[in-house]
Amino acid sequence: MSPGTPGSTPSVADVRANLAAIRERIRSTGHDPDAVAVLAVTKAFGPEIARIALAAGLPDLGENYAQELVAKDEELRTQTLAVEPTWHFLGRLQTNKVRVLAPIVGLWQSVDRVELVRQLAARVPHAAILVQVNLSGEEQKGGCSFAAAPALVGAAQDAGLDVQGLMGVAPAGSAEAARPGFQRLVALADELDLPQRSLGMSNDFEVAVEEGSTMIRIGRGLFGPRPPRGSA
Ligand SMILES: *Cc1c(COP(=O)(O)O)cnc(C)c1O
Repeated sequence: MSPGTPGSTPSVADVRANLAAIRERIRSTGHDPDAVAVLAVTKAFGPEIARIALAAGLPDLGENYAQELVAKDEELRTQTLAVEPTWHFLGRLQTNKVRVLAPIVGLWQSVDRVELVRQLAARVPHAAILVQVNLSGEEQKGGCSFAAAPALVGAAQDAGLDVQGLMGVAPAGSAEAARPGFQRLVALADELDLPQRSLGMSNDFEVAVEEGSTMIRIGRGLFGPRPPRGSA
């Protein structure tokens, strides 16, 4: 990762170099970097970060907060885009935010309860989603339990949603501590015949790729230290 101080905006060249290093680290796990999508998590970085990510070859962009996602998309639209972004919603999602996000979000990664399935089915027929599973049991992480996931996947499919896979956020701690949760999520995705497994962040993506992640979600590893919330 290139050095950076919180709040400084990386250049396109910095982000390209960081992406190349991440792909090299994927390769050194023995996996094909082309088989692992890199989602650029732009949360908390300034509005210009989305354009920098696109220019660096990262069309998939992730955000955790509805307002921030809408604002960054609006900023992007002020200029002609060479590449269309695909926005991924990653955060805890309130049902009343679905409406404002519906025209913008391409993949809803944090679907974790049936109310959300209903709201999405009503507002965004056939929406592409991942069901988020709570890997650690920590309440604040979001996600349904492993036990509840098959029924939620079924409900979403019955409601006409395009369930592409499962998503999980590792518990805080060492990358190695994340491994059992990653294994369990991949096994469940296999069982449910779901191709997409969104697993791994800056500090644990190699373990995630070793265990079968198909999409890693990277913020700091691409853009450097995150500015404190509210300063962006
Ligand atoms: C913030 C966040 C990320 C990116 O985290 P980094 O450590 O910056 O790579 C990935 N996924 C989710 C759900 C996040 O909230």
